[in-house]
Amino acid sequence: MKICIIGAGITGLTTGYKLSKLGHEVEIFESASFSGGQASTINFENFEIEKAYHHLFVTDKAILGLYKELDLEDELEWYKSKVATFAEKKIWSTTSPIDLLKLPIIPLKDRINLALISLRLKLIKNWKKLESISAYQWLSKHVSDRTFEIIFEPLLRGKFGRYYKDICMPWFWAKIQTRVSSRNKKFDEILCYPKNSFSLLINKLETEIQNQGGLIKHNHLITSINTQDNKVSSVSYISDNKTKHIKNFDIVVSTAPYSILSRLITLEKSLTEKMNKVQYMSAVVMILILKNPISKYYWLSIADKDFPFLGIIEHTNLLPKEKYNNNNIVYITNYVEEDNELLNMNYEEVIEKYTPFIKSINNTFSKNEIIDYKFNKINYAQPIIPINYSSYRIPIKLPVLGLYSANTAQIYPEDRGTNYSVDLGQKVTNIILEDENGFIKR
Ligand SMILES: Cc1cc2nc3c(=O)[nH]c(=O)nc-3n(C[C@H](O)[C@H](O)[C@H](O)COP(=O)(O)OP(=O)(O)OC[C@H]3O[C@@H](n4cnc5c(N)ncnc54)[C@H](O)[C@@H]3O)c2cc1C
Repeated sequence: MKICIIGAGITGLTTGYKLSKLGHEVEIFESASFSGGQASTINFENFEIEKAYHHLFVTDKAILGLYKELDLEDELEWYKSKVATFAEKKIWSTTSPIDLLKLPIIPLKDRINLALISLRLKLIKNWKKLESISAYQWLSKHVSDRTFEIIFEPLLRGKFGRYYKDICMPWFWAKIQTRVSSRNKKFDEILCYPKNSFSLLINKLETEIQNQGGLIKHNHLITSINTQDNKVSSVSYISDNKTKHIKNFDIVVSTAPYSILSRLITLEKSLTEKMNKVQYMSAVVMILILKNPISKYYWLSIADKDFPFLGIIEHTNLLPKEKYNNNNIVYITNYVEEDNELLNMNYEEVIEKYTPFIKSINNTFSKNEIIDYKFNKINYAQPIIPINYSSYRIPIKLPVLGLYSANTAQIYPEDRGTNYSVDLGQKVTNIILEDENGFIKR
């Protein structure tokens, strides 16, 4: 079958790899000049690193399995992570349950309650029972006001901005399951980062697809999906030399966000309305190469509403900085609503805004510490997952013969991530195969 895949992110590449391996004629169209989408990397003078911080968890079975399948298992390296929270103008270690039990900014009885609630959450197996309640409602009911204010509110507000009260409890439940399951017997959090960044996986997928006869076309923007008798017939696209084309396909798999897909094809009104309802946060991520670290932690969450960013992720506090010519690689990250002013600001304006706040965490910080930087804005970075999401989640197989959609808003209840993109790539492949078998039998 002739299969068009829209997007060369991890979902599109995995789908392309699986389908071309099965002998299908695959063509991947990517509007950007590179593959990898949100997991793509960027070059500094002597090294390459993700535009947005990336790591894997012990539970990320699908992507770990793909590394194995592609003979890249030796790439996977595991590190102990150190986590902290900045609250009340100080950094507090929140790496282990013991750290949490010792956290002096929360009263002792609240800390004991927090430990019990974490255990209770870990023991819940049927997340469907939590579908009709928001994380905000559940947590406000079960933890003290102080615990909520110091730990959970910054986490929810930081990731979901003005939508933070709407996020469903299964999303939060899954997040806790992942983080708890990625701990060893001593309760250390263990995270994986591939030896040569995520780019090796991306390059290997590209090579495999090409070796299996597939094509990957960068700077190719799909502008419409065309149908005949409610069946996919072709796609229209603008190629890298800005010319318009139409090409016939039997199947189209879109990995683009719904708001893009809904503009590519006219579907039944109720479905288009559903698609356009799915909202996303954008990410504003600054990578700073510094002379010195800001803290000794990998992941520093900011629990202070006045801060203009939500976290500092120090890559070289997870990996040894010797791997990066002794540079300190620091991400300063933020999730913002699509109308947030940060999205219209440039690097100079944003660093000017951030500097006094970074300084309040480490007073030795100044702009003179910055050796190099990159400033990235990522659209559709985090889908907003409200209560009762499964009742209106859009299926992978759409009601047009040959049309499938596999994007980050289909990942639920887990938080979106490269592991679930690989899983989604496998799922859409399986559905296409089932449909193909049904078609042959008919
Ligand atoms: C700040 C941040 C931190 C993250 N941290 C982690 C982490 O630590 N671990 C982890 O596993 N995951 C992490 N993720 C998530 C992970 O990167 C994504 O879930 C995953 O990469 C999504 O892959 P995808 O292929 O589904 O989507 P995308 O990467 O968004 O790919 C979709 C592609 O479709 C293309 N496209 C869209 N429309 C068209 C069109 N009309 N024509 C042609 N091409 C089109 C886009 O250009 C894009 O390349 C993070 C994400 C962000 C933003």
